[in-house]
Amino acid sequence: GKIRDKSKCNVENVVRPFIVKDEDYKKLMGVMLEQFENGLGKDTNSTAKVKMFPTYVRDVPDGSEEGDILALDLGGTNFRVLLISLNGQEVKMESKIYVIPQQIMLGSGTQLFDHIAECIYKFMKDHKLMDKKLPLGFTFSFPCKQIGLDKAILAQWTKGFKCEGVEGEDVVRLLHEAIQRRGDIDVECLAVINDTVGALMSCAHEDRNCAIGLILGTGTNACYIEKTENVGLWDGDNDEPHQVMINTEWGALGDDGCLDFIKTEYDRQVDKHSINPGRQVYEKMISGMYMGEIVRLVLEKLRKNNLIFQGQESEELKSRGRFYTKYVSEIESDEEDNFTNTKQIFKELGFEKVSDEDCRIAQHVCSLVSTRAAYLASAGIAVLLNKMGRPEVTVGVDGSLYRFHPHFHDLMVEKITHLVNPGIKFKLMLSNDGSGKGAAIVTAVANRMR
Ligand code: ADP
Repeated sequence: GKIRDKSKCNVENVVRPFIVKDEDYKKLMGVMLEQFENGLGKDTNSTAKVKMFPTYVRDVPDGSEEGDILALDLGGTNFRVLLISLNGQEVKMESKIYVIPQQIMLGSGTQLFDHIAECIYKFMKDHKLMDKKLPLGFTFSFPCKQIGLDKAILAQWTKGFKCEGVEGEDVVRLLHEAIQRRGDIDVECLAVINDTVGALMSCAHEDRNCAIGLILGTGTNACYIEKTENVGLWDGDNDEPHQVMINTEWGALGDDGCLDFIKTEYDRQVDKHSINPGRQVYEKMISGMYMGEIVRLVLEKLRKNNLIFQGQESEELKSRGRFYTKYVSEIESDEEDNFTNTKQIFKELGFEKVSDEDCRIAQHVCSLVSTRAAYLASAGIAVLLNKMGRPEVTVGVDGSLYRFHPHFHDLMVEKITHLVNPGIKFKLMLSNDGSGKGAAIVTAVANRMR
């Protein structure tokens, strides 16, 4: 009887693949550790999928960082230009969001960097900075092989960007060339950082135990502090401190098939229709760019099998990308048996009659998909905590998924506690404006040392 039940099309059977057993999370941790070590190894890095890029950022801030710094934040939903004034613990910040049109995101590199330079120009003009020479820090949150603090070769575009002629090139050089083409702004980029490093640095500014930076936004990624002796590809100095931040680029985990044992048919569909099929497998199971779409596919499957929405159809629910990840947060935020948000969302999607039972099912789907995401990210953090072996570590976290989802933080604390080695204490700390503040801190240090 039991075997037949498993093949029956009911809600529980449809969603079951999202429930990952604890032993599978532990197996995943073993796989991750192996892949992290491959990425760090001199002989294994070239074929490793998880690249573990050394960042040339060596230490957390000591609080003496100061000066006015311009920062750029490129790497997801919004492109921002920021002006940051650092003075010890005091940080002042002004910023403006500029739109990057889709045709530029998918256009040429020259167009992209000309657009960025124009945004810098506009920002400087609006903020009366045209007569100033300002150092610039660039938060560029795509996988880059850094060959210095101010040299970052783009390995590949992710998260919806695909500009021709940038992969394999130094993005600082491309930025400087665009600035020179204009000839009307006086800025020099002294540092490129990843948003993970930004989150780590900005949290470390308040808490010196911070040694991991985590992003849960459009994409997912993490960085951590590693001893240089463990970094096979380290070619920097061997001076104090004997450590360097490693940008793991863990979103690429699974690109060799090592996550196939937990992938679902929905993960495969999301991947198939993405602009980078076969790539960023772990990221696609976790981050904001994909979570809503996973939920949509499950809901559509339930609907087609008449398990939800009683035979109603919705063109919207059939449309790829139309079910936003913020809906997942909103649906899961509904109080028990009061389905205000959930009903509103499905009305917006074109369903006329939405029953309480429909809402309960939708909530269940959202909860399983977001819980899996939180647990998968937790497994990664537990691996890093165990690997570092420090007794007490703060994890600086940034990104809208972590910030706005009602349970992500608690789910992660629960799962990391369960997976981490005994004796290791950790805290998850929300990073505020890490991309701007982090870039400014790193740039201020670089500016002082030149
Ligand atoms: P980025 O990572 O691009 O710098 P964000 O941290 O704002 O920027 O992340 C954007 C992602 O967060 C989008 O994929 C979006 O779907 C998701 N997101 C936005 N609002 C929410 C929310 N309320 N709950 C969950 N996810 C959200």
